[in-house]
Amino acid sequence: PHVRPSGEPAEIDPDELDPDALKVVLRLHQHGHQAYMVGGCVRDLLLGRKPKDFDIATSATPNEVRGIFRNCRLIGRRFRLAHVYFKGGKIIEVSTFRANPTELEHAANGAEDEGDGEDLLITHDNVFGTAQQDARRRDFTINGLFYDVAEGRVIDYVRGRRDLDERFIRTIGDPEVRMREDPVRILRAVRFAAKLGLDIESRTYAAMEGAVEDLPRCAPARLLEETFRLIRGGVSAPALKLLDALDALKILLPPVNAYLKQHGKEGEKTFYAFAESLDRRVSAGEPLDDAILLAMLLIPISRSTGPEEPQEGRPSVSQVVEDLLAGFVQSARLPRRIAERCRMLLLAQRTLSGERRRRSAAFKRHPLFSEALTVFEMTVEATGENREQLEAWKAGEVPQPRAAAAEGEESD
Ligand code: ATP
Ligand code: MG
Repeated sequence: PHVRPSGEPAEIDPDELDPDALKVVLRLHQHGHQAYMVGGCVRDLLLGRKPKDFDIATSATPNEVRGIFRNCRLIGRRFRLAHVYFKGGKIIEVSTFRANPTELEHAANGAEDEGDGEDLLITHDNVFGTAQQDARRRDFTINGLFYDVAEGRVIDYVRGRRDLDERFIRTIGDPEVRMREDPVRILRAVRFAAKLGLDIESRTYAAMEGAVEDLPRCAPARLLEETFRLIRGGVSAPALKLLDALDALKILLPPVNAYLKQHGKEGEKTFYAFAESLDRRVSAGEPLDDAILLAMLLIPISRSTGPEEPQEGRPSVSQVVEDLLAGFVQSARLPRRIAERCRMLLLAQRTLSGERRRRSAAFKRHPLFSEALTVFEMTVEATGENREQLEAWKAGEVPQPRAAAAEGEESD
């Protein structure tokens, strides 16, 4: 096995380190700066998982980093960090040690203004700091570990090792404060719990419950992004169950929340069957775009509501789908492009299942046909229905419309 310069066994196999990230760290060292691998990569290596990417924290300022690497760009206005580019479009993210601005203000003001009405939401976060402060500003202890590649040693300012061994997600510092200052951490805790199979420590969980009401104060784009990260992580079913238990779905995915509340146990069964079908695909490594991910979660809703044509004051399916997505564009700032693709995928399901007949030759040439078929296939896996239709479409045939199919061809 691998040994450290001191002769003791190393905690992380150096062969598991990303060679480009390693180069960046060593270059920063050569220029006299401190630099460590940090966050998710250290956590994942210690858990025996393959890290998604390797982030670096350094004492060098963003401008100093830019001066050292030719292939480097600074990004972000408030939270400025450096992207160092490598072959094949690979990016290593290098951020300067920062302190938690709230903690600094507290230190400056003493404890005098510690009322409960105090507004903790972080709105500025670009104060440079030491390595230790940088560890402490991070969200969870398991995400606050640093790896010193020169010494082959994990640096633990936040008792992250203990929590990793005991498999707990715990905020760094006071959970009430940490959740209130950035409620997006609720979604992050849920993601790590679902993805890594960890438990959420009880005080952290209680603070998450308390901070749910603050979610609407977060930037919609961040909420949407963290929500998509749950789904892209292949853990939408367990994660959405956790969010439902926290009563956060009413804020994050109002239509899903309404569906679950309205349809009770049966609705839950259906909804999570779709989510699990999706999770299986994602976990198997199939790359699915955001419109497909969202469509899978909305199908149970679009199927449960509305006639084919407007009747007796009830909106048609396409109207329901339209409204559903317009709602997301409005409240969650879902990009229109994704909403539009998602809308088409949802409407195409009725043609694929034979409930709605269209000119099939034209339908098969539709630019989203293959994506729509992927969604249909996952739906068949979730429900067990429509297997023959699926086989026919996959064989390149156009299945017979079902007896109940609408008369008249549509040509939209
Ligand atoms: P993943 O492997 O899923 O990317 P990650 O831990 O790398 O997980 P990122 O969102 O990539 O998560 O963030 C990188 C690191 O930045 C985290 O490990 C954490 O230390 C810190 N971090 C990210 N978001 C926050 C936040 N909202 N509050 C505090 N620290 C954060
Ligand atoms: Mg990451």
